[in-house]
Formats: sequence, structure tokens, C-alpha cells
Amino acid sequence: MNDFFNTPIEYLKGVGPERGKVLRSEMGFTNFWELINHFPFRYIDRSKYHTIGQLTGLEGHVQLKGKITGMHESGVGRKKRLKAVFNDGSGALELIWFKGVTWIKNAIKVGESYQVYGKPQRYGGVWNIPHPDITPLAEVATQKGLQPVYNSGEKLSNKGLHSKGIEKLTFQLTQDPKCKVPEIFPIDFLQQYKLMGRDQAFKQLHVPYDLESVQKARFRLKFEELFFLQLELLIRKMGSSGKKKGFVFKSPGTVFQTFYDEHIPFELTGAQKKVVKEIYGDLKSGEHMNRLLQGDVGSGKTLVALLSMLFAVGNGFQAAIMAPTEILAQQHFETIHELLQPLNLRVELLTGSVRTAKRKVIHEGLESGEVAILIGTHALLEPKVKFQNLGIVVIDEQHRFGVAQRARLWKKNTLPPHVLVMTATPIPRTLAMTFYGDLDVSVIDELPPGRKPIQTVHYFEKSRIKVFDFIRKEISIGRQVYIVYPLIEESETLDYQNLMSGFEAISKAFPKPSYQVSIVHGKMKPEDKDFEMRRFAKGETQIMVATTVIEVGVNVPNASVMVIESAEKFGLSQLHQLRGRVGRGAEKSYCILMTGNKISKEGKRRLETMVNTNDGFKIAEVDLEIRGPGDIMGTQQSGILNLNIADLARDGQIVSAARNAAKDLLKHDPQLKKPDYQRIKLELKRVLQSKPNWSKIS
Ligand code: ADP
Ligand code: MG
Repeated sequence: MNDFFNTPIEYLKGVGPERGKVLRSEMGFTNFWELINHFPFRYIDRSKYHTIGQLTGLEGHVQLKGKITGMHESGVGRKKRLKAVFNDGSGALELIWFKGVTWIKNAIKVGESYQVYGKPQRYGGVWNIPHPDITPLAEVATQKGLQPVYNSGEKLSNKGLHSKGIEKLTFQLTQDPKCKVPEIFPIDFLQQYKLMGRDQAFKQLHVPYDLESVQKARFRLKFEELFFLQLELLIRKMGSSGKKKGFVFKSPGTVFQTFYDEHIPFELTGAQKKVVKEIYGDLKSGEHMNRLLQGDVGSGKTLVALLSMLFAVGNGFQAAIMAPTEILAQQHFETIHELLQPLNLRVELLTGSVRTAKRKVIHEGLESGEVAILIGTHALLEPKVKFQNLGIVVIDEQHRFGVAQRARLWKKNTLPPHVLVMTATPIPRTLAMTFYGDLDVSVIDELPPGRKPIQTVHYFEKSRIKVFDFIRKEISIGRQVYIVYPLIEESETLDYQNLMSGFEAISKAFPKPSYQVSIVHGKMKPEDKDFEMRRFAKGETQIMVATTVIEVGVNVPNASVMVIESAEKFGLSQLHQLRGRVGRGAEKSYCILMTGNKISKEGKRRLETMVNTNDGFKIAEVDLEIRGPGDIMGTQQSGILNLNIADLARDGQIVSAARNAAKDLLKHDPQLKKPDYQRIKLELKRVLQSKPNWSKIS
């Protein structure tokens, strides 16, 4: 950055040492550059006015023009209030302040005209606006149509740096002839991606001409921010795939071929075929595969995993699949073991509960290469587990595994095994591209044929009898039912009590011997859990009462009803995962969301989303909007991204555009050697330096 922008913040006219101090401590602004990067979060259209007489309460924020006709202060200390009567000719309302009363009282005068902006509310038949923006009309007359609104804070406001104070500073700054934000992109690039010039964009945001220009300016700066993020990810990826060689699986191999031609239980869906091709493309390329496979619950990822592993086996390598829970590992083992029966391959299961003697046998089989496929939990990561030649690792339900665990798998070989990471939590594309920019992504976007969409309904507690009747009806035609209780980490005991009283109630409503009820929860021993799960899977019990331990992957195609208790307490992706436990057979399935009457606004939104759509990607997008990206990926990663203007939840299209632009640039000039790109290179360096080292993330 040039000298002008490096000037200490105190030197800006209107700042000085005192305000400089709060700007530093409250906002972290040390120089002009940081101030000019503080963008307004909203704009007020100063050219339009509402009238008090016509307020309906549906307008949201409104702008009014009128006179203060009276003022009244009440209370003392913390209870101090200031009310002003504001009349615009069509009617009157009250302006109310609870904070900064003394300051406001001195600043506004009865009999003067003002412009007022705020959100009116009705209280006791009277409209009022709490804490409005208020500006003498005389000052407004000289203003353009749009006024920027900035984030501020109490300490800043106390020094006159509320939004309007900050606006004065940014205005001051942008009017300085030396204030020229240097362009980074070459002219062709600007034209190709329809980008506003950089200097103009900064100035438009602070001193806007009209909404359209503001949009263009925002687009430019978001694009720039995301472009550098993607550039960074792509370069990192080039670096790694350039260095990392991988095992070459020259042909699909006879094992694969035999299985595919003779033993595969059903025809692959188009989407499965597509991703198997993508995977094989990687495996024969000579480069190391690092691929993320996304597929909604029930989309048939297991079969894809199996086929991928058979590529390895047929080429003389071993394969492993790692699942996040014992139950899941067990289930994979059963499925795969059965499917591979005719091929005469040694398949083993390794979990925490495998006895020492058996464990030893497995270890030996792995080292000698006799075990072709190993299925397990994270027990598979233990140092004792050594392979003769591990060719591929599949990680199921990746979000359960930490980055560090993934890294440990690499160390099991001279060359790292190919890695296929599978997830049923559909990560919105924008996020996948950003966080997994260095992974290739395959998507199974089609469910196996014959599935009927799951019907989702929301019932309040008072309809419980109706719900139980429905469950009886389903059981009477041979179906099975899950009833799931929330698991809130803060209070395991409470959850346990909830679950147990639920279990009792259900056992009463569904008495033996007509009904058999299973229960599975986190406090049970793994063997007992497995035992109960298996009873349910075999159809020996009709109802499975459980906590979210069954959330991931469990496959009982005959189960057709999923009842989720206190559904308002679950996050969206969890609800979707749970719902995915039903609808796995050809029968019509149902998901019943039970709640009490009190539901937060967000809770309502989650329930509505579930009722309205089965599409995991749509659900993930809503989830991202509600929670923000940080939450989905874990807080650790959110801070690292550190975006100033772009918003991953809303700017998906810009993310794609920026990614394509970054790809294109690297295709033409991988080293960024062309004179035209020197500023891009410099900026990239600056961006990288301003961040913690996160090359270790994936
Ligand atoms: P997930 O992607 O959630 O892991 P699974 O691999 O468990 O899904 O598959 C869900 C169900 O769909 C299983 O019962 C599986 O046997 C079945 N299935 C998978 N692929 C197909 C296919 N191509 N045609 C029909 N059924 C399939
Ligand atoms: Mg699965």
C-alpha cells in the first residue's frame, strides 16, 4: 500500500489523538487504508419519504420529514428517557431515546424541521420510533439521494463517531486528491469480468451515486476478495498435485470387472456411473487422488466406495474404508462382506471392540497383504495397523473426522494412498469450493430409482394421539418406526431422563407382546447398542427409540416412519440426516417433527424448510444462511477466512465466477510471470502475509 494509505489514522482531518484512540481500540483502524476498507452495511434512500398518516407497520424502516413539536424527559439514571413529538402534517408520532439522552436533548430543538429514519412500532395505539436517525432538514437538503450507514459502537458514538460521524471521515478521506486506490487487475481482465475500476469502487461505496453503482462497486470488491482466496487455494493445489505422485491403477482390473459384470446387485444410477468414472480417471492418472464425494443420504455412496476399492484390489493393492462409528463400520462390513462373497477376497473389520487375539490376526493379515479390504473406525489409524501396500482409503461421513486424523493416513505408505472422502452432509457448492478448493469434488445428484419422496409433517404435542395411531397403522402393515430424542451436550443427564421417560411412555402406548421396542443411546456399551440395532435391523423389534447415535448412515430399508421429538432443538443438517434413515426402501415414508408450542423464529424456519423440501443442497443453503459459514465448518476455520465484504452464504455466484477467473489466469500464466499480472502477484503476497498459515488445513 502506498504512503498515503499508510498514514496513521490520527492525521485524518476530523480525527486527532482522542478519536484516533477509540478508532484503534474499538475498530482496529490504525491507518487510512483500514478506514477506507470499512464499508457501509446499508444505504438509506434519502430521496423518498413516508407519511405518518399512512403508516401500516409493514414498511420496516421508514424515512420521514417533519417538525419536532414537543420534548419530554423522564426518569433518572439508567431509567432516563427522552420523548419527542414529531409531526409531519399527516400525523404525529413519538421519537424515543433510552441512551445518550442528554446529548440528544441538547442536539435537537423544538420547532425545527428534521429528517427522521427508523422503524416505527405501535404501542398503546400510538406510533413511536425508538432511537431514530435524526438530521436537521437544512443539512439534508445538500445531500445526494443515498446515505451510507456504517457500523459503529457506543464508545465511538460517545466521541461523535456514530454512523454519520464515520461517514464524515470517509467522505473527507475520499475527497483527498491523493486518495487513489491503485488498480490490481489489467484492463482486459476488468473488461472480461465486467468489473468497475478499483478506485471508483471504493469511492462509490462511501460516496454513492445511486444503487446501481453501489451494486457494481460491491460486485467488484467481492469479486476481488474471492478471487484472491481462490487463487490461493488453486496455487496450493497445483503445488501439491505437482509434487504428489500417486499409485497408477493401469486397468480397472479383473476383480472390478467380474464384480461389475456378474455380481453387482443393481444397475448403477447415472450419477453413480459418472462419479465412478471420475474416480477411475484419477486412479489411472499417476497423480495422487484427493477427492470429495458428496451425495445426499441414500444416494448410494457405499457402492461407489466399494467399486473404488476394487480398482485398487484388482491392481494388487489393499484398500480401507473408515467410518465414524462402530455401528456404521459394522454395517459397511456386513454389506461389503456379503457383496464380495463370490469373489473370495479377505475382508476384515477392525474397531475398538475387536478382541486382542483377533486384532493380532488382522494386523498380520494386513502386513502380509492377505487382507484385501479393511473396514473400520478410527481404530484403523493406530500406529500398530500397518499395511503391505495400501492403495486407497475411503473416509465415510468426513465431517466427523478432524484434519489431523486425515493426515495420519498419509503416513501409512511410502507413497500416500489415494483418498476418497465421502459426505452425506451436502456442503453448499460455494463452501465446498472455498474450503475444499484443493480437493476435487464429485457429486451424486440422483437417488436410486423407485424411491418415493419422504413426506414430512410438523405436529404439536397436542396431536400426539393422532401420531401414535398413525404409527400403529404403519406397524400393522409391517413397517418399522424410529423415534429420536435430542441430545444436548450441555446436559447429558437431562437428555437421558428425557429419553427414558419417552421410552416408558412409548412402551406403555405400544405394549408387549404386540409390540417390541428397542432402545439405543450413547451411554450403552457398544455391544449392547449393536445388539439392539441388529434386532431392529432384522425386524425383531418394530420401534427404535434412540438418541442421535443413529444419525449417521444406518440402513434399515423397512423402516418407514421417523419421529423426531423436540424437533425444534435439532439443527437443519441433523434433521435432514435423521430423515434420511427412512425412505430407503420402496415404501412411502414419513418424517414427523414433534414440537412444543414455543419455537424460535429460526426454529420455525428450520421446520418449514424440512416440511417444504427433501433436497439436501437446498437445506444446506438455508442452514448456511441461518447459521453462517463459520458454524458449519467449525469455528476454527471461519476466522481464518476473514472476509471483509464477500458473504459466502449469499455470494455463491460470485464465488464461482471468481474461481473460474482464477483458474483461467493460472492456465495462461501459472507462475504469474507476465508483466500484466505483477500487481496481482503482489496483492496475493500481501493477502497471504496477512493470514495465518493455513496450508495445513486439508
Ligand atoms: P448413502 O449414500 O447414504 O451412504 P447407501 O450407500 O447406504 O447410501 O445406499 C442407500 C441404499 O440404496 C442402500 O440400501 C443401497 O443398497 C441402495 N442402492 C445403492 N445404489 C443403488 C442403485 N444403483 N440402485 C438401487 N439401489 C441402490
Ligand atoms: Mg453411507
